[in-house]
Amino acid sequence: MRSDITWTTATIRAIRDVTPTIRQFDIAPDSGVPVWAPGSHIDIGVVIDGRADLRSYSLVGEPDGAVYRIAVKRDDQGRGGSRAMHALREGARVSVSSAKNHFELEFSRPDYLLVAGGIGITPMLGMAATLLRRGMSFRFLYAARSREELAFLPELSAQLGDKLAVFVSSEGRRLDFASEIARLDPEGQLYLCGPMRLLDAARSAWAESGRKTSGLRYETFGSSGRFAPQAFRVRTSPQGIEVLVPENKTMLDALVEAGVDVMWDCRRGECGLCVLNVLESSSEIDHRDVFFSEHEREENKRICACVSRAVGGVIVVDTAYRSVDLAADARKEAAISA
Ligand SMILES: Cc1cc2nc3c(=O)[nH]c(=O)nc-3n(C[C@H](O)[C@H](O)[C@H](O)COP(=O)(O)OP(=O)(O)OC[C@H]3O[C@@H](n4cnc5c(N)ncnc54)[C@H](O)[C@@H]3O)c2cc1C
Repeated sequence: MRSDITWTTATIRAIRDVTPTIRQFDIAPDSGVPVWAPGSHIDIGVVIDGRADLRSYSLVGEPDGAVYRIAVKRDDQGRGGSRAMHALREGARVSVSSAKNHFELEFSRPDYLLVAGGIGITPMLGMAATLLRRGMSFRFLYAARSREELAFLPELSAQLGDKLAVFVSSEGRRLDFASEIARLDPEGQLYLCGPMRLLDAARSAWAESGRKTSGLRYETFGSSGRFAPQAFRVRTSPQGIEVLVPENKTMLDALVEAGVDVMWDCRRGECGLCVLNVLESSSEIDHRDVFFSEHEREENKRICACVSRAVGGVIVVDTAYRSVDLAADARKEAAISA
């Protein structure tokens, strides 16, 4: 579906562990590194159980013209992409896409609140460095479950000083969005990258503050749900195709592999292109998207097939696909041109 990106082969130049589970990679593309803006990410080709796949990684810091720097958290519950990344060694050859940016920083605001949760630190580092270099007003809030998960903390503390506040939940310090948002200039913007729970808290505090929704910008790395992924069946209407969605596959991939016509783009529950109407579900739906409002998620009338799942059982969806009578279309065209 995407045609605006280019691919190149690249070499892993350097690897460094920044926490026990987060590993930093410096990747030198054969075709050089074009300039990119903070918030950008690249896709990288990974091989999982002998099968080629892609994973996205935000670019760390600011462009240096020599390498793409990324930091990857090993997710032992995931489908294997991060484990494949951690298995790479210096000198390995990989394929990388050009940088894409769905999380652009606007520079026109008087004040900024940057919020990172866990591995969501990666795109925020470049934003902080750029705002600092431009002498703009901002604060940086960094939240994690434990202190050892705070990647890049020494560098950030040295760079940001008292602009930085750290919230470690195992130490009993939690981020209070209402008071943080109250300190932000009325025309300021909040940029957040982190898990869904953090985003939900930010979204509800932002809404309660009465600020314009355009002031809250975020990126999620997709897919942390309320339930552990488990297998379920999806039946499509009107075709009546029934497909098993194993625990390690998304509903979108299972449908596409079964030949069902579904549109998609972002694959992380943000753009809404893969939304399907839910006609019936024998079990709860684990909404893992950030596309729907809280109210829409509670209604359970629609589902983002790229990230959300049924919690077991069978779900019946309307794919909005209607078979086309090509012969009738050809007859119609012939009649018009006659
Ligand atoms: C724009 C963007 C930027 C990103 N930047 C970074 C980054 O800087 N650093 C980083 O470490 N990661 C980043 N990611 C996430 C990264 O692309 C991978 O998703 C991550 O490395 C985990 O890959 P995985 O294959 O190990 O796990 P995945 O299979 O992708 O699983 C990740 C999580 O999704 C859930 N999950 C697993 N299987 C399913 C399923 N079938 N259906 C729904 N949910 C499921 C689980 O909760 C699991 O913990 C980014 C993602 C995006 C979209």
